[in-house]
Amino acid sequence: MTDDIPAAGYRGRFAPSPTGPLHFGSLIAALGSYLQARRQGGEWWLRIEDIDPPREAPGAREAILASLEAHGLHWDGPVQYQSQRLERYAQCLQRLAAEGRLYACACSRKRIAEHGERRGGTLHYPGWCRERNLAFVPGRARRLDTRNLIIDFEDRIQGPQRLIPAEEGGDFVLQRADGLYSYQLAVAVDDAEQGMTEVVRGSDLLASTPRQIAIQRLLGLPTPVYAHLPVAVDAQGRKLSKQNRAPALDARRAGENLWRALHFLGQRPPTELRGALPATVLDWAREYWSLKKVPRTAAMELSADVPPAGE
Ligand code: GLU
Repeated sequence: MTDDIPAAGYRGRFAPSPTGPLHFGSLIAALGSYLQARRQGGEWWLRIEDIDPPREAPGAREAILASLEAHGLHWDGPVQYQSQRLERYAQCLQRLAAEGRLYACACSRKRIAEHGERRGGTLHYPGWCRERNLAFVPGRARRLDTRNLIIDFEDRIQGPQRLIPAEEGGDFVLQRADGLYSYQLAVAVDDAEQGMTEVVRGSDLLASTPRQIAIQRLLGLPTPVYAHLPVAVDAQGRKLSKQNRAPALDARRAGENLWRALHFLGQRPPTELRGALPATVLDWAREYWSLKKVPRTAAMELSADVPPAGE
């Protein structure tokens, strides 16, 4: 087997938020996590992260599933939906509260933006409400008390990482003032409880990972291994994303899209495979995928001969 993770019991996942259709940037994360699982005979799960209804786009869920199918990226088992796990997230918060790790916060985003500090590009919340003992009532966010936490981990692509939340970012939100659970909480709990052994995703989420590991540790949950892939950026260094209107993947060019994503991930797919059917490209990729070939960088520009798919 390849790349030193034991085949037995490998489980990975792709976890899109249903905020729009998949684009080339999402395909890179989907394909990288899929191949890392399949190359090792492991499972690959699909989790729809639908915990933020105001940001969801009608029909996005169905479009994501159809797009993955069209690209031959078939997942194992039933699709997981975070919207069905809300009770579990509430229990986790109760436990953190019982252990004195959670506090209610009445600070508005505006106040933090105006009076908070900026450290290393991120807005730092200095813990104004930490000692106020405010009641947990609707309209107040719930934050994790991160004092004394130091999180070190080794990313399989991006190398050693360290976060000391008290110095960078501060206490972060686990439940928003509008009652919605935070991405950090839901992902940390699900990855651990759904038995993920490895998380392969874009490097745009690298800064979130130590926060997710912190949550897992405080809840006594296991932590997977992490590998953060380079993300595709345009000539101005902007990530391909729904926010800057990356075009939706064109299912009619699925084979070509897969080839381009493999090329981006440093896998050197044979030129003859360019434009082949998705199943043919994936047969090659499952055989030859290697995490070691993935460029060890956080972001890469899509080269001119391999423009974003679907334009
Ligand atoms: N749902 C997140 C997103 O679409 C990704 C979550 C993850 O892979 O951890 O950006």
